[in-house]
Amino acid sequence: MFSAYKDTIEDGDLVLGWMTRTAIKPIVVEKKEGLFNTRYGAFPHRNMDKYGAQLGSMSKQGFIHLIHPTPELWTLSLPHRTQIVYTTDSSYIVQRLKIRPGSTVIESGTGSGSFTHAISRSAGLAGKVYSYEFHEERYNLAKQEFERHQLTNVIPTHRDVCNDGFDIENIDVNATAVFLDLPAPWTAIPHLERVIDRSVVSRVCCFSPCFEQVVKAVQALQEAGWVDIEMVEVAAKRWESRLEMKRSLDEAITRLRDVKARRETGLAKRNARIKVETETGVEEEESDERDAKRSKTESGHRGYNPWGKGQKIKEGDESFEWTEVSKCEQEIKSHTSYLLFASRLPKLGEEVFDKDMCVRPYSERCPEASTEGAEASTEATEAPARTEA
Ligand code: SAM
Repeated sequence: MFSAYKDTIEDGDLVLGWMTRTAIKPIVVEKKEGLFNTRYGAFPHRNMDKYGAQLGSMSKQGFIHLIHPTPELWTLSLPHRTQIVYTTDSSYIVQRLKIRPGSTVIESGTGSGSFTHAISRSAGLAGKVYSYEFHEERYNLAKQEFERHQLTNVIPTHRDVCNDGFDIENIDVNATAVFLDLPAPWTAIPHLERVIDRSVVSRVCCFSPCFEQVVKAVQALQEAGWVDIEMVEVAAKRWESRLEMKRSLDEAITRLRDVKARRETGLAKRNARIKVETETGVEEEESDERDAKRSKTESGHRGYNPWGKGQKIKEGDESFEWTEVSKCEQEIKSHTSYLLFASRLPKLGEEVFDKDMCVRPYSERCPEASTEGAEASTEATEAPARTEA
C-alpha cells in the first residue's frame, strides 16, 4: 500500500483525510457504516471512492481531500506513541546509509514506526527491515500497523537490544545498514558485529538528541572498529523571497525620532495613570484599542509610517520604492537530533566488495597490500582504526 499506488478506494483501505496542511487524519475505510466526523463536517465512508478526489461533507458546508498514503504523509498523520523521525532527517539518513531496493536494514527502536515506513519502501520487496522494540505495547501496535499497511518486508521483534543484541533464531540477519534511535546506542553497538554483513561495507546511523550521547556512541563505535565517524545536523531552513521598502536616511532619522517621541509620551501617560490609580485606589479601564484611538486623535494623523504602527502598506504598493530580498526563518524547524554516521569495513584478506560502489577483490583496490601482507597486517591495520577515527 505504501510502495504502490492505486486509484480506487476499497473497503479496509487506508485513506489520509487532508483537511489542512497541519490536519491530516488517517481513515480506515468501512464502506458499510463508517463516518468521518470533523469540524468541517461529516463524511460517510461510502462516498470515498477515488484517491485524490475532493469530497464534500453531508451538509455541503466543507470538504476534504482523500489522499493515497505515502511514508512522508504517514509521518505527518500517524498516531504518536513516541518522538518520531521526520522526513527531512529520514531522507538524508536513507541516502547516507545507502538503503535501496534489496538492502537489509536493522532499526531500533521501532517507536511509532515513522522511520520504518520510510525504509520499508526504500528497501523494497527484495529487501528486509529488522525492527526491534522493547516496549511491549508499542511493539504490538507497530506490528499490527505494519500488517495492516502490508509492509511485508518488515520483521518486527520484541527485544531489548542493549542487553540481548540483535540475533534472531534461525535467521542470518546480515544487515548492511543500521539505524539506532535509542537512548543508549553505545550499549547496543557492540552487539552489531554478529548481525552485520562482514563481507561488504556496513553503515550505521545513531540518532541522538544530546551531545553527551554522541560522545559515548563515538567511543563505542571506535572500540568496535567502526571508521569514517562523522556527526551531522540537518538544519533545513525555509527561504522566502520578499519585497522590502527602500528607505532614505532622512526617513530613517524621522522614524527613529517618531519612535523615541512615542516611547516618551507612552511612558509619561503610563506614569500619570499609575499615579492616579495609587492616589485614588481606582483601576483605570484598559484597552489597547482605546489607547491606539486616543494616541491617533491626540497626535492627529500620524501619516506615513512604513515600518511600524499606523498606516498599513501592502507589500509591493506602487506608490513606494521596493527592493527584492531573500529571508530565511529565524528558527530551525527540522533539527530533532544529531546524526552520527560510521562505516564498518569488510574483513581483510577476503574477496570483498562494497555493494554500493563496485565489485573488486580487495587486493585490486589496495594493490600495495599483497594477500600475505594483508593477512600478516590484519591486526596492525585494524588496531589504529579504533583510535584514529
Ligand atoms: N524511530 C522511531 C520513529 O520514527 O517512530 C522512534 C523511536 S523512539 C524515539 C525510541 C524507541 O526506542 C522507543 O519506542 C523505546 O521504547 C525504544 N527503546 C528504547 N530502548 C530500547 C532497547 N534497549 N531495545 C529496544 N527498544 C528500545
